[in-house]
Amino acid sequence: MAGEKVWGLSKAEAKYRPAQNPNVRCDVCKYMLPRANLGTCKLVRGVIRGQDTCHEFRPLPKRASKAV
Ligand code: SF4
Repeated sequence: MAGEKVWGLSKAEAKYRPAQNPNVRCDVCKYMLPRANLGTCKLVRGVIRGQDTCHEFRPLPKRASKAV
């Protein structure tokens, strides 16, 4: 879909929503910074919640998960 343009997507465009699956949440996505309850995302504008997800989710490389 969209490329990796920094803050190139609104939440609506990214289909940002509450996560149903704990393995597909912002706090385990490689684009969230910092990886916490609240933070920002490299792709999606606005405040990002760790418990949410979106269409652009990409998993972290295994070793790095939860390194807050
Ligand atoms: S799931 Fe989407 S909104 Fe959440 S950190 Fe990843 S790319 Fe950003």
